[in-house]
Amino acid sequence: MPVSKRHSVAVRVGNVTIGGDAPVAVQSMTNTDTADAQATAQQVAELARAGSELVRITVNSAEAAAQVAPVREQLDKMGVNVPLIGDFHFNGHKLLDEFPDCAAALSKYRINPGNVGRGKKRDEQFARMIEIACKQDKPVRIGVNWGSLDQALLARLMDENAARAEPLDATEIMRNAVVTSALESAAQAESVGLPHNHIILSCKMSGVQDLIHVYRDLASRCDYPLHLGLTEAGMGTKGVVASTAALAVLMQEGIGDTIRISLTPEPGGARTQEVQVAQEILQSLELRSFTPAVIACPGCGRTSSTYFQQLARDIQTYLRQMMPQWRSRYPGVEEMNVAVMGCVVNGPGESKHANIGISLPGTGERPVAPVYEDGIKTVTLKGNDIAEQFQGLVNNYIERRYGAEGDVEDTAAGVGAEVRASS
Ligand code: SF4
Repeated sequence: MPVSKRHSVAVRVGNVTIGGDAPVAVQSMTNTDTADAQATAQQVAELARAGSELVRITVNSAEAAAQVAPVREQLDKMGVNVPLIGDFHFNGHKLLDEFPDCAAALSKYRINPGNVGRGKKRDEQFARMIEIACKQDKPVRIGVNWGSLDQALLARLMDENAARAEPLDATEIMRNAVVTSALESAAQAESVGLPHNHIILSCKMSGVQDLIHVYRDLASRCDYPLHLGLTEAGMGTKGVVASTAALAVLMQEGIGDTIRISLTPEPGGARTQEVQVAQEILQSLELRSFTPAVIACPGCGRTSSTYFQQLARDIQTYLRQMMPQWRSRYPGVEEMNVAVMGCVVNGPGESKHANIGISLPGTGERPVAPVYEDGIKTVTLKGNDIAEQFQGLVNNYIERRYGAEGDVEDTAAGVGAEVRASS
């Protein structure tokens, strides 16, 4: 049954709508020094090409703020129209004031209410940023982070709790403080003049249970669109699994209008991994489709070699690489399933359920690989080039199923390639 999304107002961020009936948007953040406009524009472009629909950049200094408009200009020249979001802390009011071209070039401002200032200055500086957002007609994400929670607010809630007949425990107070910080800041922003449909909220936590608890609470108390993400998710499988565990629970309940996966890249690793993971979470939950899915068995003692692992990997890489070209040429191809199975035990059954599937020979089986298309066995491949033959069949299938009639030439590499197969 399709997930029914929680009601939220629609907020326009550049050319992207967040909330309302819009699909859950994927966003990411650069890790370049924004003062290096060349490197930042390059990474924004890479993230956008990988599928990031919005990209956030750090604006932490005068040097960075001075380069925001040039970054935007470079992206426009490259034909990359992804909206840029400025991430502001502590000095955001000054930077937005002193660099109006920066304020104008950004499509949204992210403001962390815990890092705006202390005491009386906090309200003034927050209000100043909101005034600029109003003047520039820009939406704002009020992005609370539990690691930089407004300490004055926390102290107030602790005092109120201490006066209760049955005080809540410290975890409950902290969770409540995070949500209260977001809601009170949003109310303050509206009182300064920011329209209701110019506000997005987030309350990022690093614990999965904390995040689920906080977002359920937030979702029940407002109709602002919600930006979801587990902060400081970590590296490698830990970061992927923790983010997935938290976001899957919330999105299954219809909570979340845009997501960012805060992965720490491996040294030298691609920043775009966070975009890929975000897309895969949404696709696994059947909320959106981005790339044809490869269904591959895990392999076992019946698997005769690593050949099928290589084939699964190569097909997956190939499908992902081709998507930028295929997206407009083959509408619907992103919903295709390709099965790559290691033997005939489950292979034919899984292949029949996929659009196209192959069962490689397992240990002791005849060295042949039956292929199924739309549930029907069409051919049995053999020889040393089964991978190439299968890729050709996949290309032909895509052309036939998703392509415009007669549009066979000049397709992706390999379409129309000779397919050497024997039945
Ligand atoms: S399909 Fe075959 S090779 Fe793959 S896990 Fe199942 S039994 Fe093992």
